[in-house]
Amino acid sequence: MVYDYLVIAAGAESNTPGLPGADAGAFTFRSPVQAERIQTELDRLLLEQGRVRIVLAGGGTEGVEVGGEIADRIDSRGRGKDLEEGEVSVSIIEGQPRLLPCFPSGVGEFAGQYLKGRGVTVLTGERIAALEPGQVTLQSGRSLRSDLLIWTGGIRPSALIRNLSLAKDRNGWLLVDEMLRCRDDARIFGVGDAVSIRGPEGTVPVSRLAYHALDQAAVAGGNIASAVAGGEMQKYRPRQRRQLISLGRNMGISATAEGFVTGAWVVGLKKAVERAHLLGYLGRPLVNGILSRIPGAGILDRLRSNSGRGGVSRD
Ligand SMILES: Cc1cc2nc3c(=O)[nH]c(=O)nc-3n(C[C@H](O)[C@H](O)[C@H](O)COP(=O)(O)OP(=O)(O)OC[C@H]3O[C@@H](n4cnc5c(N)ncnc54)[C@H](O)[C@@H]3O)c2cc1C
Repeated sequence: MVYDYLVIAAGAESNTPGLPGADAGAFTFRSPVQAERIQTELDRLLLEQGRVRIVLAGGGTEGVEVGGEIADRIDSRGRGKDLEEGEVSVSIIEGQPRLLPCFPSGVGEFAGQYLKGRGVTVLTGERIAALEPGQVTLQSGRSLRSDLLIWTGGIRPSALIRNLSLAKDRNGWLLVDEMLRCRDDARIFGVGDAVSIRGPEGTVPVSRLAYHALDQAAVAGGNIASAVAGGEMQKYRPRQRRQLISLGRNMGISATAEGFVTGAWVVGLKKAVERAHLLGYLGRPLVNGILSRIPGAGILDRLRSNSGRGGVSRD
């Protein structure tokens, strides 16, 4: 396919640490399809087996969210008592000294206490060193029986990015400048989880999160339109927002770099945000269709682009 401009938004994939058997013997959790596969296997195990041992490799946002969801599922399958009594076990293994290591201290402790209260075992300062069918061995030498192993231990560049002969950072992420253009070819733009943004002062610190990917998509789209029209390009500036973390249906954490608050309302808010995004997407063609029929509606776009919204700066 020939292109004048190309946008690479190929995301990331689960990072399984190259342990023999890691890919074959474990479930990953990056898409709704993978989530369904985990749920089907979990339901099968809860139905067919008395003792069930579930191991989550990684205690970051994914690990604690999946841990909370699995505890809910065990409950809804009528095995909540077995989780309390250890007949069913859920263990989260985290290499760092605390869960949610990227958040202010206290966030991980809160998540750990809450999940332990639901019968989840939390092992911090431990890494998986070896895998055999049905068994996980930790670096400390401790081994855990495992009927279901789920990698929630971070991400790495997707296969597409790994195989691209474009400039990448030392971790293999696609290098783009502040206009989100690839270093090697200004007609290629990169956005989202796949990229590492480099500015005159060095790497622009930005987490791999959906709302940053959306802001970057808006900037890249605008810059391509400017390139076509011979206009001025915009620099991308990350906008920090609260991160909403669910620990199952009844508890969540709303965290910023400064601190955090907790409550069941966080889970409701997270769902509302997800639905609003989905509706925004599904509704956009309809709204654009209506707007395009209103005389002078183009003024809105011009006002919007002149106001510097969506992570944009002109400096
Ligand atoms: C469990 C989990 C929970 C999360 N929770 C949150 C949250 O609460 N808030 C938040 O802001 N972010 C959250 N994130 C992160 C968020 O999902 C990502 O930051 C966001 O999806 C990145 O968007 P993206 O478009 O860069 O990549 P993706 O959404 O991963 O999309 C990349 C797409 O490219 C496709 N692709 C890859 N290779 C090719 C190829 N060769 N050809 C064609 N297509 C290809 C993939 O199939 C995929 O559909 C979460 C992520 C996970 C896994």
